[in-house]
Amino acid sequence: MVPMSVTTRFAPSPTGYLHLGHAFSAFNARERARNVGGRFLLRLEDIDPTRCRPEFAEAIKDDLAWLGLDWDAEVRVQSEHLAEYRAVLDCLAGQGLIYPCFCTRSDVMRELSASAAAPHAPDGAPLYPGTCRRISAGERADRLGAGERYALRLDMAAALRPGLCYEEAGEGRVACQPEAFGDVVLSRKDAPASYHLCVTHDDAVQAVTLVTRGEDLRPSTDLHRLIQALMDWPVPAYAHHKLIVDSEGNRLAKRNRSVSLRDMRQRGISPAEVIDRLRAEAPPAHPNGARGGAFRLSSSSSARDAIGDGGSGDGYSNSPHS
Ligand SMILES: [Zn+2]
Repeated sequence: MVPMSVTTRFAPSPTGYLHLGHAFSAFNARERARNVGGRFLLRLEDIDPTRCRPEFAEAIKDDLAWLGLDWDAEVRVQSEHLAEYRAVLDCLAGQGLIYPCFCTRSDVMRELSASAAAPHAPDGAPLYPGTCRRISAGERADRLGAGERYALRLDMAAALRPGLCYEEAGEGRVACQPEAFGDVVLSRKDAPASYHLCVTHDDAVQAVTLVTRGEDLRPSTDLHRLIQALMDWPVPAYAHHKLIVDSEGNRLAKRNRSVSLRDMRQRGISPAEVIDRLRAEAPPAHPNGARGGAFRLSSSSSARDAIGDGGSGDGYSNSPHS
């Protein structure tokens, strides 16, 4: 293999304050690049206008600077690149691989409840039953003409490519099963593009060679690998890391007693103490998350609604919904 320079990134959604888990993700990405003379990039995944706020974007940069986790190059802000995501959707449409879906969530649930099994995609979304893929061209044209709102879904059966795989750090080649996602949403009714589309596009545009992110996002990699194949984008290597847990073994998320960096800072914890703790968590690759010795997180200082959780970002512990 030809040696190449390593580029990693940290890509949170500005939907809340960074917590220790995000710091671990950023630290890990930065170490993996800087230790070999590579580049570490910062990207703000603010594609979802209903959840993202500018003050959280500023807070992310501020908290990373406080920790000394500086980044190379300009911060990429997804909301400034909507035309690029549109162009990707157009390209997939040109290949006949996406179709408009007019269904509401309750439409999908009703359809699913009529069938015996209601399978779910790896990201937890109900597997779409294909209702709008089967409507006639005439009905589709009528509904589009009437201005009915729609999402855009990937026609998975048409899009599937055989033999896709990627390189996972420390493991080697991993085979992909993107079909587990079914006809996944690539453009939402309420957001111009989905997490899956934007993250894959941006990793290509930013020439990221090693995608580092939490284990919880690992199943999505199969789908991202398919999008790379459909768009003929370069394929980065991946290094999915364990998730940081609290003193009770719960992973940091908005439903747990998460502690924000902001809160730690206000309580007088120094950046060096935080970095020491992050360093102690390395090596990052660990199969089942917790490995004991969890950071002492005070239960009285919860940072609710932690960033990324359930959101569209790629920073940490999120469950990208479409
Ligand atoms: Zn539909």
